[in-house]
Amino acid sequence: MVILTSLLYLNFVIIQTNEDLFEKVSDNNDSIIPEVTSGTIGPVVMPNLNNSTLKAELGQSSWKLIHTMMARFPENPTEDEKEALRNFVYLFGRLYPCGECASEFQKIIIMYPPQVSSREAASQWACAVHNIVNERLKKEIFDCGKIAEKYKCVPFHHTIINTMVPPVLIDDVIMLILDHVDQKTLYSCLFVNSKLYQLTLPTLWRSPRFMKFRNVLIFQQCLQQRPHMGKYIKVLCFKRLGFCNYLDDELLIQIIKSCKYITKLDLSFAGMITDSALTIISQHCSQLNHICLKDCRTLTNDSIKAIAKGCLMLISLNFERCLSITSLAFDELTTNHKNYVKKLDLTLCKWVNDDMAPIISKFHSLKKLNLTNCTEITSDFLITLSPNVPNLEELYLGGVLRITDEGVIQVVDHCPNLRILVLCGCDIHDRTLHHISKLKNLYKLDVTFCMNITHNAIRALLCMNITKLNYGELDIDERTLISLRREYFLSLNVANY
Ligand SMILES: Cc1cc2nc3c(=O)[nH]c(=O)nc-3n(C[C@H](O)[C@H](O)[C@H](O)COP(=O)(O)OP(=O)(O)OC[C@H]3O[C@@H](n4cnc5c(N)ncnc54)[C@H](O)[C@@H]3O)c2cc1C
Repeated sequence: MVILTSLLYLNFVIIQTNEDLFEKVSDNNDSIIPEVTSGTIGPVVMPNLNNSTLKAELGQSSWKLIHTMMARFPENPTEDEKEALRNFVYLFGRLYPCGECASEFQKIIIMYPPQVSSREAASQWACAVHNIVNERLKKEIFDCGKIAEKYKCVPFHHTIINTMVPPVLIDDVIMLILDHVDQKTLYSCLFVNSKLYQLTLPTLWRSPRFMKFRNVLIFQQCLQQRPHMGKYIKVLCFKRLGFCNYLDDELLIQIIKSCKYITKLDLSFAGMITDSALTIISQHCSQLNHICLKDCRTLTNDSIKAIAKGCLMLISLNFERCLSITSLAFDELTTNHKNYVKKLDLTLCKWVNDDMAPIISKFHSLKKLNLTNCTEITSDFLITLSPNVPNLEELYLGGVLRITDEGVIQVVDHCPNLRILVLCGCDIHDRTLHHISKLKNLYKLDVTFCMNITHNAIRALLCMNITKLNYGELDIDERTLISLRREYFLSLNVANY
């Protein structure tokens, strides 16, 4: 019954398009084959395929291709698109890799030429000819009324996800995942297969860890044998070596020469490193944007000037306890980098005084400034600086005893985005805390050893979003703050009554 309906439909569409077909059949009256590109119609090309398993597999895939193609054919095809589909069917009949099947199929398409006037016509035609094959092979006849449901005309990627190929992770995604994998697991990834090996290498080499000085030596030897691996290294951090007196200029220069693409260099505590090494670094590492020279006490202004000249992408500078540097080191930095530097750490730099304020003010984009224990500066420093650094988010003034209310109030007024404010030991009073309560984004405030402030002023701060408050000898964490807040609001209610 179903095949009858299919054939009836096929005859109907053929009759419907016969006029059209006959018009196209030039002078050849004994054929109903429409005009097609030369070479598309002709004898079967392939030999017989005697293996029935292969034949069945090939058939299943081919029918899938044909029906999906019809389901996605345009609803209103252009003449060119119609011709393309027609040619495809005839060529398919010539080139189908099972010779005997192709012969049988050619007979069918001569009797029932491809219907290409619309998606619906093409889908129903393919269903009908498939049913003719099914019938000959004594297979179940398919209900062509359900064809649209079976081969849904969905975007191609949906079809893939729902029916065909299991999802495949693209390389970029694998590399993102590898970013979060620990060193040991990364190492074992090398042995899974060649693809994972290739993808893991850059991550494994990106930020080598040096827990012992021996690791540095092994690393340097590896680099010597495989200098091309240097291109993967982005971060070099020696701070875990502590006060290591073995890391000298010669070794550092050998390493740096292979690592031209590093973006972050941490030489904390590398007390043996001199200006010569920094000069070489500035010539080789143009992409450097973070540099930490914490406790590199032998480095002078020459190092800073060289870096400022050679590395034009500097964002973060850490000169903590660089005791041989003076304010002159900043000449080059403020010329080349004034718009880019976002983080500056001058902790324990005794040479920083109020005269430095106009110099640091040139870093307009500054977001984090650490002046912990810069004991020479006073409130005048903050009064000069704050109008020029409106984006400041973190300010550390712990141990700067000469900072008073005037300085902090200026900072609060000019830097509304402050999130962290450390005023430990500063000479401030309650009125400054009332002012600080204006800061909407502040979440960490340290007012330990600020002897002049009272509990009442602290209570006023409890309404804010602060999650870390250091006050007196207390470290008040978020949980305690919440309960303090509750008590505070309760007392407010009582007072109202
Ligand atoms: C052009 C062509 C000619 C072939 N000629 C021969 C031949 O001469 N001899 C031979 O042994 N094999 C031939 N085959 C292979 C044969 O048609 C089958 O593909 C094969 O035997 C496997 O059959 P099957 O039942 O597993 O699924 P298939 O018949 O391949 O069908 C695959 C799936 O399509 C669906 N389906 C079935 N009928 C229809 C329909 N009418 N419309 C839409 N979807 C349908 C069903 O869900 C079915 O599971 C030919 C294949 C093609 C593409």
